[in-house]
Amino acid sequence: MGKKILFIIVILLAVIIFTFIYFFNSKPTDTTAILVKPEVIAQKKQLEKLTPDSLLIQIDKKHCLAPEYAPQDLVGVLSYGISANSSFRLRKIAMPELVEMVTAAQKEGIELKVISAYRSYADQQRIYSSWVAQLGAKEASRQSAPPGCSQHELGTAVDFNELNDSFANTPTGIWLSKNAWQFGWVISYPLNSENITGYVYEPWHYRYIGKVNAKELEESGLILSKFLDTKNNL
Ligand SMILES: [Zn+2]
Repeated sequence: MGKKILFIIVILLAVIIFTFIYFFNSKPTDTTAILVKPEVIAQKKQLEKLTPDSLLIQIDKKHCLAPEYAPQDLVGVLSYGISANSSFRLRKIAMPELVEMVTAAQKEGIELKVISAYRSYADQQRIYSSWVAQLGAKEASRQSAPPGCSQHELGTAVDFNELNDSFANTPTGIWLSKNAWQFGWVISYPLNSENITGYVYEPWHYRYIGKVNAKELEESGLILSKFLDTKNNL
C-alpha cells in the first residue's frame, strides 16, 4: 500500500511539475508572439511600400508626387532611334521595351512617334495653368493633371502620334490598343472610364509598367487605375 501511495504521489508531482513548466515556458512565448507580430507586419508593409520610382506607383488626382521628386535615370528618347523631339526624355528602365515595341510596329508598317514624354513639376504647372486659362478649372481638370499629379512626371508615360480622339480609329491607335501591353505599355485612360480615372478618353496616352505587370493587368481585365489601386492596397 505504501509503495502504491508513493507511486501515485510521484506521478501527481510529475504532472504538477510538468504542467508548471509547460505554462511557465509557454506563457512568455505566447506573449512575445503577440507583441512581435504587428511589428513584423509593419516591417513587411514598409518593405512593400512603393516609392515613386516603382513602376506600379499610383498617380492620380488623389495620389500626387512631391514637387521635389524627379526620376534619376532619365535618358534622351531620340538617342534610341525613336521619332521624338530632341528634348524628350524618359526613364532608362522603360526604353528597351519601347524600342522593341516601335520596332515591332515598324515591321507591320506602323510608325509610332513620341509627342510627349517626361515632364518636370514645373513643366506640368505651366501646362495645367494654360489649360485652366483656356477652359476654366473644372474642364481643365478633366483633360490635364495638376502639377505633381501627372503620370508624365514619372518619366514612364508617353503620348503617341496625335492628341485626338480619332487617333483611336487610326491603324496606329488600333495597333497600340491591341499590342502595347505585350511590350509592357498600357493605356491609362480608356474609353468610358472617366468616372474611375477622373480623365477623358486618351487613346494616345500609355504608361510603362513592365511586361510581367502588363500581362497580369491584361489577364485581370481591370483598367490601369483599378489595377494600381489593388497593387497599392488603396
Ligand atoms: Zn499624356
